[in-house]
Amino acid sequence: MRSEEIRERFLRFFQDRGHRLVKSSSLIPDDPTLLLTNAGMVQFKPYFLGAVKPEFTRATTCQKCVRTTDIEKVGYTARHLTFFEMLGNFSFGDYYKKEAIPWAWQFLTEEMGLDVSRLYCSVYEEDDEAYAIWRDVVGVPEERLARLGKEDNFWDMGTTGPCGPCSEILYDQGEEYGCGRPDCRVGCDCDRYLELWNLVFMQFDRDERGELHPLPNKNIDTGLGLERLASVLQGVANNFETDTLAAVLYRVADLAGVPYGKGEESDVSMKIVADHSRAFTFMVGDGILPSNEDRGYILRRLIRRAVRHGRLLGITRTFLPSMVEVVVETMGGAYPELKQNSTFIISIVRAEEERFTQTLRSGLFYFEEAVRDLREKGGEVIPGEVVFHLHDTLGFPLELTRELAREKGLALDEEGFSRLMEEQRNRARAARIQEGYTAQVQEIYTEVLDNFGETRFTGYQTMADKARIVALVKGSHAVPEASAGEEVEVFLDRTPFYGEMGGQVGDTGVLIGPSGEAEVVDTQHPMRDLTSHRARVKKGRLAVGETVEAVVDRERRLAIRRNHTATHILHYALRRVLGEHAKQAGSLVEPQRLRFDFTHFAPLDADELRRVEEMANAVIIEDHPVRAYITTYDYAVSIDAVALFGEKYEDYVRVVEVDDISRELCGGTHVERTGEIGLLVITGESGIGANMRRIEALTGKEAYRFYRARQDLLERLAGSLRVEVDRLPDRVERLRQRVKELEAELKKRESREVAALAEGGVELSETEIAPGTVMITFRVDGLDPQKLRELAERTLLQRGAGAVGIATVCDDKANLVVALSRPLVEMGLDAVELVRAAAREIGGGGGGRPDMAVGGGSNKEGLPGAMRALVEEARKRLESGHA
Ligand code: ATP
Ligand code: MG
Repeated sequence: MRSEEIRERFLRFFQDRGHRLVKSSSLIPDDPTLLLTNAGMVQFKPYFLGAVKPEFTRATTCQKCVRTTDIEKVGYTARHLTFFEMLGNFSFGDYYKKEAIPWAWQFLTEEMGLDVSRLYCSVYEEDDEAYAIWRDVVGVPEERLARLGKEDNFWDMGTTGPCGPCSEILYDQGEEYGCGRPDCRVGCDCDRYLELWNLVFMQFDRDERGELHPLPNKNIDTGLGLERLASVLQGVANNFETDTLAAVLYRVADLAGVPYGKGEESDVSMKIVADHSRAFTFMVGDGILPSNEDRGYILRRLIRRAVRHGRLLGITRTFLPSMVEVVVETMGGAYPELKQNSTFIISIVRAEEERFTQTLRSGLFYFEEAVRDLREKGGEVIPGEVVFHLHDTLGFPLELTRELAREKGLALDEEGFSRLMEEQRNRARAARIQEGYTAQVQEIYTEVLDNFGETRFTGYQTMADKARIVALVKGSHAVPEASAGEEVEVFLDRTPFYGEMGGQVGDTGVLIGPSGEAEVVDTQHPMRDLTSHRARVKKGRLAVGETVEAVVDRERRLAIRRNHTATHILHYALRRVLGEHAKQAGSLVEPQRLRFDFTHFAPLDADELRRVEEMANAVIIEDHPVRAYITTYDYAVSIDAVALFGEKYEDYVRVVEVDDISRELCGGTHVERTGEIGLLVITGESGIGANMRRIEALTGKEAYRFYRARQDLLERLAGSLRVEVDRLPDRVERLRQRVKELEAELKKRESREVAALAEGGVELSETEIAPGTVMITFRVDGLDPQKLRELAERTLLQRGAGAVGIATVCDDKANLVVALSRPLVEMGLDAVELVRAAAREIGGGGGGRPDMAVGGGSNKEGLPGAMRALVEEARKRLESGHA
């Protein structure tokens, strides 16, 4: 029977018994206490704990599982894998032992047709109820029933919480699988009595003192290993030879050119490669990436271990992509996510293999040298320095060195290694301080990072998250708590708050603790991977160790992400309108507005700006999907993702795609569809340096507000002009026309007035100031300086005089003006000097140009004297010839 059929018949069997078919959950569990999903019950934990009420009381699943606790056993036992599929049926306060036990038996014997005489069952030593059901209801003879102790048959999730006895169904594979020890029986570690199925009867709640209290609702949680059952049904020697794994195993053998079964050592390596290939393919498929921490580290270890065993088998070229392919072929039917992500998985796995191959090459060489050295000296323990060098300089994980040593029959000086690691950490710390940071605070940041690791950013998925306060920093001190009124930096183990980066400002929001509340006013990264929430405690207090509800100001974040996606769209539109040279040079993404700097050689004209804005709005209105994913830098480059010039990127990068319109490397937060942006309006364009332009724009509500304000303005304008908005241009044009006419009319009238004055009506006196040159002087009251000047000019022209002087009293002040003809100015006479000399008589001063100057003073009575002085001064200067 093929694995696929087993899977389907199991799920059908329980669906027929009222179970809801639930999909396998991701290998990344929704549970901070667990790195990887390792059993079917993981996704149901909240139901078992009573935290959430399920919509159904019976469920059945086929769950993908990874168990790294079994990693050392892989290849050495017949039954252990790091990746396996667990079939399960679950009861949440519904049926219990009387149903679960007979059903399990019925499935194995009737549905699967297992040989009854080979089946054994174990129960917890105190569980008489289960024992009786096996014996009396199912009819298992007592010699095939075993009572086992706590380690084997009592299950719990931890020191407290739900727990209960369990009961296992085992299959006797025959003596040849056994260890041969005289006391080999059910419960033995060897492969003879193969544990197929574990039925857990969750019936107690254990309190802090370790006392057991019966649960009001009893639960069932069972786990049946698909590969183990398949190995029995297919009559093969181990998990690796079952149909799904065999294809993978034979692929390794093919690639190595070594037949499976050739020898113990090569078989173990093949099994390890086959198993690990399944594990890392599924892990990357679920979004885990190689790193030095947590599940990323487990993944890295699995990939590297597979590479090393591949090399041991003699495979010299890059081969893991081919392993991914065979896993996708064999498992892609049941797990379509593998097919969907296969290109991505291959690119990640290939990159990690290539990197590690480099490492391995230099590291193994060094290791072999060190071992030869050691052997010559007759030593058996590889010194800490060697282990450290392998780790620190050559990138060998400790486990790898340990494994290599074990293969050589040598031990490691792990204590020496740890000491060197610690020293190195101290050195690094000292170095960081010397880089000129404010030592103390920097030290705290470093401490926080060292002790609690990087802050996990959950803000791509959520705007509210539960998180633990790992540290509080006030001024330059770490503090255990902060109370109302205090300002602190809060460090969390995970956070939905986006720390300012890549032009996008930091989030604001609130932290709600069990006994207090703080307002987050800004979020920053004092160090890479470390997020600091600048907060002010508003109520009560916050303390280290507390769990808080971290809630981002949603409205603000939504506005920010609209602006952020808009910058990507603007970038696209600019390149389309202006050409490929228009590249992003910087940006600022705030909630109220966005700013986008780019390279271009000239100001944008109105038409270009309008085309850019129109194109951007077309993208918005078409409501394109926006998606983000992580990939290798090389892959991103190969698909032409736009990278910021001069930025340094990690091996893994995040790509943000607006449909097939734009693709950029970006860590920011974005809308899900462009339609959310609503509207984009360009509010400014300016130059900010050589060949560098800046566009300012608004989106969403701000853009609406902008247009709303414009509209209001128009309406007010139309109201005050008493027309419809549509008719404003007409009306304004008519008004301008009218103003022009009136101005012309006014000018004419004024000129007429002045002309009348100049022509008569006032008494003029004419004095010869030089032979043939006359100066005309007269007085007219009530003229302002402007009119005074006009009148002087006009008189000069109309009378053909050499100079004109006019006196006036206006607004109770005495003024006078002097105008000189061009020839007089050329002779060196200066109107400013003349007017100043005359203004002395009226107790004032004056100024202007050499041909026209105005003076003024408060002494009105002095005016006649001033006029005389004017004529005198002109004559004197001309006479003396040094005018
Ligand atoms: P074992 O003692 O053989 O390691 P277990 O007690 O760890 O098994 P459970 O935790 O009860 O197993 O898991 C339920 C079922 O899942 C097991 O009965 C077995 O069929 C299967 N299973 C557990 N671990 C593995 C593994 N490493 N590889 C393959 N199947 C496994
Ligand atoms: Mg186990």
